[in-house]
Order: sequence, then structure tokens, then C-alpha cells
Amino acid sequence: MRVIDLRAADTSGLDSLLPRPEIDIAAALKTVQPIIEDVRDRGAVALYEYAEKFDGVRPVHLRVPEDVLQRTLDEQASVLTAALEVSIANTRISHESQLPTDLVTEVVPGGFVYQRWVPLTRVGLYVPGGLAVYPSSVVMNVVAAQVAGVDSLVVASPPQKEFGGLPHPTILAACAMLGVKEVIAVGGAQAIAAMAYGFSEEMPDGGTYYCERVDMVTGPGNIYVAAAKRQVQQVCGIDSEAGTTEIAVLADQGANPEYIAADLISQAEHDPAAASILVTDSEALIERVQAALELQVQTAHHSERIAKALSGPQSGIVLARDIEQATRIVERYGAEHLEVVTKDALERSLRIKNAGAIFVGDYSPVPLGDYVAGSNHVLPTGGTARYSSGLNTTTYLRSVQVIDYSEQALDSVRGPLVTLARAEGLPSHGTAADIRFKDVAGGLPEASQSVVLPVRDDLRSVQPYGAPQLDVPVRLNVNENPHPPSDRVVDAISNAVRAASSRLNRYADRDAIELRDALAEYLHRESGMRFARDRIWAANGSNEVMIQLLQAFGGPGRTALAQWPTYSMYEEYARDTNTNWCLVGEGGEFRIEGDGTGDISTADSADDTSPHSGLGTGIDSLIDAMRRERPAVVFIPSPNNPSGVAVDRNDLQRVLDAARTTGPVRRAESKTGRISGTVTYTAPTPSDGPRATIVIVDEAYGEFRDPGQNSALELLADNPHMVVTRTMSKAFAAAGLRVGYMVASPRIVDEVLKVRLPYHLSSLTQAAALAALGQAEAQLAQVESIRQRRGAVAESLRRMGLGVAASSSNFLLFGPLEDRRRVWEGLLERGVLIREVGPAGYLRVTVGTDEENELFLRALEESL
Ligand code: PMP
Repeated sequence: MRVIDLRAADTSGLDSLLPRPEIDIAAALKTVQPIIEDVRDRGAVALYEYAEKFDGVRPVHLRVPEDVLQRTLDEQASVLTAALEVSIANTRISHESQLPTDLVTEVVPGGFVYQRWVPLTRVGLYVPGGLAVYPSSVVMNVVAAQVAGVDSLVVASPPQKEFGGLPHPTILAACAMLGVKEVIAVGGAQAIAAMAYGFSEEMPDGGTYYCERVDMVTGPGNIYVAAAKRQVQQVCGIDSEAGTTEIAVLADQGANPEYIAADLISQAEHDPAAASILVTDSEALIERVQAALELQVQTAHHSERIAKALSGPQSGIVLARDIEQATRIVERYGAEHLEVVTKDALERSLRIKNAGAIFVGDYSPVPLGDYVAGSNHVLPTGGTARYSSGLNTTTYLRSVQVIDYSEQALDSVRGPLVTLARAEGLPSHGTAADIRFKDVAGGLPEASQSVVLPVRDDLRSVQPYGAPQLDVPVRLNVNENPHPPSDRVVDAISNAVRAASSRLNRYADRDAIELRDALAEYLHRESGMRFARDRIWAANGSNEVMIQLLQAFGGPGRTALAQWPTYSMYEEYARDTNTNWCLVGEGGEFRIEGDGTGDISTADSADDTSPHSGLGTGIDSLIDAMRRERPAVVFIPSPNNPSGVAVDRNDLQRVLDAARTTGPVRRAESKTGRISGTVTYTAPTPSDGPRATIVIVDEAYGEFRDPGQNSALELLADNPHMVVTRTMSKAFAAAGLRVGYMVASPRIVDEVLKVRLPYHLSSLTQAAALAALGQAEAQLAQVESIRQRRGAVAESLRRMGLGVAASSSNFLLFGPLEDRRRVWEGLLERGVLIREVGPAGYLRVTVGTDEENELFLRALEESL
């Protein structure tokens, strides 16, 4: 490659010294203009003629039949479709993160300006079929348009003689994989015109295919395609005029010459007119790159094409006096692809403004971006990167502003509005504002003096959580243990609290060491498993444990997920920590199996009737959702609340296995500070592999499981991404105490420690909990009898003809009831409070004392 020595050059004269291809779109315009007019005027007739003339084949139809798309896909090698799948998935991930959010701003009190992002209605994507066929271009254009939410899209690609007038099969296959149904076999400038103006043709089934005109044409192509895109801009939008491809490499002396040579060659391979440029301050590097090129070009598949591209006037090696001048040169050049291989590659890349896409360091070669990086490979060429962006999701979006001012808001800005109108000599503009106030004597009343609180918009219409707290004789609504502590337990707790009171001037032990040890001891007795203190964490109820977990692992841009039906507080933890919430299968069909054995099923559709495993619509749909939503946290209550059903062990194992790699994708972790005028970037931490989802198995009712049933605690050893939460509120008969806890890997406990408030557990709570744990035997004495009464109540409910879920907890979900509200009210009238929760038609009742259960059953019979 030729070397251009710019060590003595200053910035002002640079443009003429840099290698540039010579492209004359204006000349091509003369050729394409008549073609465009012809297609506009004669439609399909003209398109067939141009196909014969330019592509050497007359397609059977312009519109490719849908079954041909699918058939072509079926014929492709599975390695190719698997590779395309990776490309599609990665491109989708990064393009979804580009979706901008709608904004509404209260500019003056009562005066709102919305910024809405709306997708284009219909777009046309051009995919060339000349020197090379690029299914990857189909992916780049289609994914961005689909993610943006474009309603309808048509893909155009030239008819190929060797494929009977159809576009190239790999292009058809890529379309089929992406769900594109409308493909036309039209190439070149005529394709751009066909999409911009629309056309119709008769189809063999007697119907007519209307190719409606599009709102925007995108996609790469040769100079005629570029000229046609320039021409049709009167009737539709375009992305940019893609020219021949270019790569610039900015390198210092430490860069690897073999890599640079390979990368320069990789883009030269596209086209003899492709531009490959190296900008460096190292003469030694230039020598080594030249030597590497010599060897590599010879053995390259397209060696002739490459040699031509590298020796053309558009390519060259630029020698700069230092790396700063080299950087200014690449800024000036504005390359489509820029590789930065300097020792400060990332930091430098984040400073550079003018480039279509920037590839950082030794392991981000340009072909990565061509196919599978997730970035878009449709990029501005020929220096247009100075003022335009590569294709991205916003290419297919428009912003619409909505202005909504109240009477008072308009009045508050009426003065300056009228002044500006008069100054511009447009007094009627002012009148349009004034006329609205001319009848108001003395203007509007003073704005209210009352203070408007900055209420969070997402909390505006929210009601505080709470099962109704009604004072009735029989309370079976919140799954409490009906047995109060014995006198002995009361004494033990009182004494402990009394002792702790004498030290209340001091803060509590913020790490609750003694309590955690006592909980470990308790778990050993309860489950036979030993856990060290550093795997246990306690807080004010398992409610607080779980919100701390979301504070540590959730947050903005992250997702928490659960499967319907589930414990309603999970959604609130997510909301309160600004974590996205995803409830899988919400409101799906829910029923109790007809055999009356008490199995509850939920199903997506009539033919999915697998017995309920405690996981709503089934384990597969949960795992699918995890793969799709990439949650940071998934909640699995086992036993489930409201159904009471324990999660099947195999199902839980499958969730844990999947969860090893379904965690959040790293994104948006860099910051741009514009207000101060400086831009600062904090690079995300380097990736150490796919991240896991934290699986929280909520065993609030764990102790009520039947003998022989396992606790998820047993799975902790093999699953460092799993948390088991427990509580003293239920079986332990200490709901008023507010102590819940979790068992997890020490790494998870360490993260939670970072977000807990200091001294969150009061010393009175800790003392009382320790005393209660010392009396565990007495506290748990009633668990077995509650379990037996659960069986008896379930039996009675079934005798009333009701379905009852197979509960492993201290409550029962029963139904379906025609009007559950009425039944619930009927019970309340008779002094029995239960819970109206869960799937429509079902009610949940806590197992009480014998007397309470009897009152409940009698009241139920009456109100049914
Ligand atoms: N998980 C589930 C499934 C629950 O039903 C409850 C309470 N109803 C909790 C957690 C919270 O319990 P606590 O905060 O009292 O420990």
C-alpha cells in the first residue's frame, strides 16, 4: 500500500490529502431518473422489462409467494440457519436497548409537552444481489425495523437467473427466519422506485398484489441504488446513501501487524473500490503491516480483488507525527468502520466523534460487527459519518410532540407570546392567545397556594398493600398461626426484651450475629442441614429480606419475574425498587382438576392440561420467559401463595439449571454528563461470561410441608445463584415479631449487606427472636395438628362439591365459585374473614383452630 506522510501537515489542508474514492452520484442520477419515472408511470410492466434487461431473467411473479420463503428456509443447511439465529438474537438485544422512552415534561405549571416516539407505518428494505449476497444485511435492516415497531415492511432483492428469477435463496431464508412475508424480486434503481411509488400485479390465484408505497427506503446497494435513493427523497425518507465500504485503523506501535493486515484485507474483499486505510505514528508498524499484507493477500480467496482495492487511490497508509495527530486525521476522515488499536483503545474510542462504528482493541475486528456483535452494520460512508448515524432502531422512529396547556398555563405565558408575535409583525398570533381570556374580568384567580407534592407518577393511583384488617371473631385471612405463644414463651420473650431494654441507648448489632447463629441452629433442627452464619441473613420479615435482594440485584433497567398466580407483594418490591416487573401467564386459565383429588391446573390453552406443579402455566413457559426477559431475579414461592401447592423438585431443578445463564445482559452502564458540558464515560466492567438469574425460593410456609417432602435448602450447595427465604411469621407463630431470613451463598449475603440500612433489626426484635428461637419446640408444637386440620377442612370443602388445591401450607385455595365476592361477603356477615385473592372464582382460607374451622365451614355452607 502506498504511504502518505502527513507528519508535517496541519489540520486545515487535510481533506485533500486523505485518500478518497471518486464516486459521481450526480452522473448516475442521469441514468436512474428515467428508470424511476418509468416505474412510477408503468408499474409492474416496467419492472418486468428491467428485470429482463438488467438481471437477465423474467421472474414468474414480482411478489415471491410465501410458501417459497418457508420452503427455501427448510432447504438451508442447519449451520447457516443456526449462525443467522445468533446474528438475529444479538442484533435484537442491542437494538431493543436503543428504544427511546417517551417523555412528558411539565414546562410551566399545567403546561405539558410530550415527546412521543412513533414507528414508521411501512418501510421498504433493499438487499443487493450483485458481487455478493448478504443475508446479514436482511438481519440488520429487518431487526431494527421490527424492534422499532414498524407495522409493515417489504424486502426487495434482485431476481437471480440461476434461481429461476427468485432472489438469492439465503436472502429468502433470512426473510423467512425473521417472519418477513412480503418479498419482491426487483433489483437496482427500479426496486427503489417500486417501493417508493408502489405498484400492483395480478397474481395466479386471480387476486391482485398491491405493493403499497413505503414511508422510507433503507438498505445498501451500488451507485445506481444510491442515486435512486437520492432521487426518491421527494416522496419518502431514506436511511443514507451507502457508498463502497471503508475501514480505517488507528494504531500505535504496540498494535499487532498481522491483525491489522487481516482486517484491512477483510474489507478490501468486498469490492475493488473498497477503501482500507491505516493511520499510525509508527514507521516500524507500517513496515510490519506491509510485510504481513504481502503474505496474506497472496493466499486470500479474492486476492485479485483485494490487491486492486488496497492499491487504489481510495486506500493507503497515513503516517502521522504522533498518536494525537493520527486521531485528528481519523476524525477528519470520518470512516464507516474505525478500528482503534492503541494502548488506551477504549478511552480513545469513547472520545472519537466521527465514525460510523468504532471497534476497540485486538478482539473487536470489523467482521464481528458485520455479523454477530449486535451492532448494526449499515453505516455512513464517504465521510458522511460526520453528520449521520448508522442504521439503528431510531432510524425507523419519528418523534411527535404533543402540547397540552391548561387555561392557567396558557395565561402564564401569554405575555411573552404576545410580545414575540408583535415583534415578528404577526399580531394575529397574539390574538389567538388573548381571545381566550377576553371575557375573564380581572384575569384568572390566583393559582392555588396549596403545595403540590412531587408524587411519583407510577405511585399516583396505587393503593397501599393490605388485606382488610377487620375486627371480626374469626380471622382466617392472612395465613397466621392461630395459636398464641404459651405462657412460658411469653415469659422468655419478656425477660429477654427487658434485658435488652437496659441497653437501648446503644444501637443494635447491625449484623445480627447471635440471631443468625440461632437461626442456623434452628434450620439444622428443622431440616437436618447445617449452614454457616455467613450464609444466613435476617431482616424485618421475609418481606424485607426480599426487598433487600431487589435493592442489591434489581433496580432500573433490570427485571424481576414470577409466574402467575403468585404472591402479590413481589410486584410491589419490584415497583418500590424501580425494577421492571414481568408476570408470566397472567390471568391465564386456572382450574382444579376434575377428578377432585385437589390438583390445581392452570393452562395457556385447552390442550395444555399438565397437572399443576406449583408453577402456573407450566415450567416450560417460565423458562422460556426467563430466556426472553433476562431477569435479574425470579421469585418462586414454594409452597405457592395463593394456591398452597409446593413446586415439583424436578421443575425447580430445571429452573435453577436454566437460571445459570438467563441473567441480565449488560447494557447502558456508561454515563453521559451533558449538563456540565463534558462527556464522561464509565466503561462497564468487562464481561466474565453470561450472568445468572437469582432464583428466590420463598419458603414462607416451608415448615408445613408434608413429612418426606424436601425443602429447597438441600439444593443450595450446588446453586450459588439460589436463595431460600423463610420466616418466623407462619409456622413459628410469630407474625407480630417481624423476623424473616434467607439462606444463600455468602456472595449473595455480601451483596445484600451493601444495601441494608444500618441497625435495621432493632435490639428488641433481635432479643425477642432469640428468646423465641430458644423455645422453638413450643412454638412449632401446633404445626402437625394444623397440617391434620388442613386435611380435614379440605375434605369438608370437597364434600360441599368444591375443588381444593393440594396444599403444602397452612391455607387452602378453593373454588370455583360463581360469585366469590358474594361468598366472601356472606362469610364476613357471619363473622368470618377470609381472603379474596388469586384466580377469579377462588377464595383462600387459612387453617385455624378446630373451633374457627368449624365456624368457617358452617358460615360457608350457609352463604353458598
Ligand atoms: N412470602 C409469602 C409467600 C407470603 O405469603 C408472605 C406473607 N403473607 C411472605 C412471604 C412475607 O412474610 P413475612 O414478611 O411476614 O416474613
